[in-house]
Amino acid sequence: MINILFAGDTAVWDEYAPHLRSAFDALPFNADLSRDHAADQVDYIIFGGGETPLKDFTPFTRAKLVQRLWAGVEDIVGNDTLNMPLARMVGGGLDQGMVEWVTGHVLRHHLGMDAHLNGQDGVWRNDVTPPLSRNRPITILGLGALGQACGTALAALGFPVTGWSRSQKNVPGLRCLCGADGFAAALSTAEILVLLLPKTPATESILDAAALEKLPKGAVVLNPGRGGLIDDQALLQALDNGHIAHATLDTFRIEPLPANDPFWPHPQVTVTPHIASATRPDLAAEVVAENIARGEDGKPFLHLVDRAAGY
Ligand code: NDP
Repeated sequence: MINILFAGDTAVWDEYAPHLRSAFDALPFNADLSRDHAADQVDYIIFGGGETPLKDFTPFTRAKLVQRLWAGVEDIVGNDTLNMPLARMVGGGLDQGMVEWVTGHVLRHHLGMDAHLNGQDGVWRNDVTPPLSRNRPITILGLGALGQACGTALAALGFPVTGWSRSQKNVPGLRCLCGADGFAAALSTAEILVLLLPKTPATESILDAAALEKLPKGAVVLNPGRGGLIDDQALLQALDNGHIAHATLDTFRIEPLPANDPFWPHPQVTVTPHIASATRPDLAAEVVAENIARGEDGKPFLHLVDRAAGY
């Protein structure tokens, strides 16, 4: 019997427990999933976070892995008491959901849909033909699991896609740049910029005034990554002075976004409430079960977080 502790609030537990139990039933050993195991009897921790997240991992003396249910780990990666490996969620529906959100919002701006949605006033305006996708360069900052999936989908629609990451990548169909040298080049062509970086000390406010200036005039910013990637004041200024045409923001420094935040009423800002892509319990349960099975088989865990890099 292996003991699996679920650390997360009640709503997350209610949503995930049935799917986790059925995924564990397919494993070649017995797994006891509970929210109440004694700490020193726990073999694996599933970390959902929520209202009362586990903060002290010291008593979990025999735990082999902490498995996060989401992609982001900024709230746990720096925890000094975490002395066992930490894995994050890759797959679990996140990639497909993010491809759909990013593609949808790219096409909205690319096709100029707002003009028709907001302008159905009896006037026949057929004077604007949007460019074909081949003439609309897009840049994605972050070429990880989600950046690559989105970049590949956009390239399949014909968009010239540049991706930027910390280390050099080679993704078929994408122009891949990296590091400080590649940053300015990646921004300089971005008519639509997609932020899919993790939030780390190195990416804090990466889209600041200087970076915004490097974007072509009239660029659109999509941020499904993390609120902390953007210097909010610099973005508001760039929207107000017309350098940035629109920002579609899914993530914010404070969530829920406070009712008096200037992003809410801004005419060139679209707010979506951190719904770009959610982990899907049925698919995520399979990812978790596979990683636990690997642990029991003595195989290396998948999707391990680089604690030093912060993601
Ligand atoms: P990954 O860890 O797979 O990819 C991260 C990418 O960012 C990698 O390409 C990495 O480079 C790059 N990167 C990290 N730090 C730097 C840096 N300092 N300079 C340049 N590049 C850097 O993450 P995912 O693709 O799975 O997810 C990305 C983020 O999306 C998550 O961290 C989360 O914040 C967000 N997210 C948002 C959701 C939502 O609903 N809004 C849902 C899910 C995720 P390299 O490849 O060289 O390591």
